[in-house]
Amino acid sequence: MSTVEQELIAAIRNIADYPKPGIMFRDITTLLGNPRAFRRAVDELVHPFAGLKVDKVAGIEARGFILGGAIAHQLSAGFVPIRKKGKLPHDIVRVAYSLEYGVDEMEMHRDAITPGEKVILVDDLIATGGTAEGAVKLLRQMGADVVSACFVIDLPDLGGRAKLEALGVDVKTLVTFSGH
Ligand code: AMP
Repeated sequence: MSTVEQELIAAIRNIADYPKPGIMFRDITTLLGNPRAFRRAVDELVHPFAGLKVDKVAGIEARGFILGGAIAHQLSAGFVPIRKKGKLPHDIVRVAYSLEYGVDEMEMHRDAITPGEKVILVDDLIATGGTAEGAVKLLRQMGADVVSACFVIDLPDLGGRAKLEALGVDVKTLVTFSGH
């Protein structure tokens, strides 16, 4: 394991049985609160795109906003919020996405993307991939060229990365944890 991975893993707090029994919650608030780890995570996520043209960074509410805003700034790209339903004030496009139990909906402003724009999707963690898959569908529906989906944490046993790759999306993650 690289020293960067070790540093990031050490900065993530693990909370057993949250929000329910059997789930190990990967809490990145400790990483965000650690100046060195936060910078490291953002630098590592930005690195593959340095020198490439990226028009927009789309962040998934809420932790994807924090990371995505910093990444957009570094890449001199615009930022697009993908929000839980009912939060955006203008014309929206909406998609239903699957959660572990049931479905939910997320929304994006209809004019947030110009067709053909190169977009990077950002969230803190990919588990089953249901959330990110919904976001990719929304972005593509608006004509975005989804260049990559980036996450600090991958839980590969839950299959999210494979799900996105099957959609033809390049996936980048910084650290991996086995299990749930
Ligand atoms: P999924 O749609 O299953 O890929 O779930 C991803 C979303 O749920 C992300 O927005 C994560 O922040 C959150 N999430 C899922 N599992 C965990 C976990 N074990 N720890 C922290 N956040 C999680």
